[in-house]
Amino acid sequence: MKVAFFSAHDFDKGAFDAYNARKGHTLEYLTPHLNLDTASLAAGHDCVCVFVNDTLSAPVIEKLAGLGITLIAARSAGFNHIEIEAAKKFGIAVVRVPAYSPFAVAEHAVAMILTLNRKTHLAYNRVREGNFALTGLLGFDLHGKTIGVIGTGKIGQVFAKIMIGFGAEVLAYDVAPNVSVREMGVSYQPLADVLRKSDIVSLHCPLLQQTHHMINADSLARMKPGAMLINTSRGGLVDTPAVIDALKSGHLGALGLDVYEEEAELFFEDLSGKVLQDDVFARLLTFSNVLITGHQAFFTTEALQGIAMTTLDSISDFEQTGDSKNRIRGK
Ligand code: NAD
Repeated sequence: MKVAFFSAHDFDKGAFDAYNARKGHTLEYLTPHLNLDTASLAAGHDCVCVFVNDTLSAPVIEKLAGLGITLIAARSAGFNHIEIEAAKKFGIAVVRVPAYSPFAVAEHAVAMILTLNRKTHLAYNRVREGNFALTGLLGFDLHGKTIGVIGTGKIGQVFAKIMIGFGAEVLAYDVAPNVSVREMGVSYQPLADVLRKSDIVSLHCPLLQQTHHMINADSLARMKPGAMLINTSRGGLVDTPAVIDALKSGHLGALGLDVYEEEAELFFEDLSGKVLQDDVFARLLTFSNVLITGHQAFFTTEALQGIAMTTLDSISDFEQTGDSKNRIRGK
């Protein structure tokens, strides 16, 4: 198929070109995000390949349909950025990568916990400046602590297993509890109890209408004083101004974010020469107990290879059969 590959980066090209040598699709790499202004770049292609900060609203999808696009291939697991019903209405199929490396994201969540707890981000700078004082670097043993996992799908399960390996007690909340997670020794509890009892809460559920701002002023108030919150899932799960209030009051002890509600304007680009316009994000950067990474939790060699393979296999399946096991069918 002829594929217009939006929001392309060099790291995408490496993984996709390597696997496409066996698949034979025509990939045109385009650096802009897909939106209403850039959709016309898809002219002459059959498929658009998109990432998490591309916009696939109903008007964009209508425009793509008018250009003859028959397939949207999301090279991500999450698909909250795609209006699936609009795609159905305009006869465009949507595929995604349901699983690539759950280890990549789970391990990144753990990296954030260890950094925030043992303050290696502060120690790194101190030592380089010849400051070997330990004041302000005190951490705690993860062993014996209570960890709350919200969403025990592929990533949440791996994360829970790692935490059990640390000797932590793991509590979980999921709308669909999983027997194998229970067998691991994880205790499913109502969300309010998980928030109340956990020293660290890590979010691993999708962004849906029901989960939008699930962490808000009310849920933050229910958390243990001094607890740590980790979000490697989607920015919209967290009400950022409410989190800033909780950090200012000291009620929230630490925050690790790999995703941010307004990240589309920021992440994946080098903006170091520009003035940061997002005042909420700028406020987050002022806290030494906040660690932010720019949506890099997925970013491992294994994950990139997995994303490229599944995406290109889905495109081939769709080309040959008109369907794919990775198709999102909607309601
Ligand atoms: P998954 O579909 O395997 O698991 C999601 C789990 O969340 C399921 O068990 C589901 O039952 C549960 N869930 C659904 N609604 C819920 C609710 N209201 N409350 C609690 N739990 C609920 O997904 P996954 O592969 O584990 O990925 C989880 C999320 O991680 C994705 O939705 C995506 O947004 C995010 N993600 C982030 C990155 C990154 O680079 N930061 C990479 C991949 C995925």
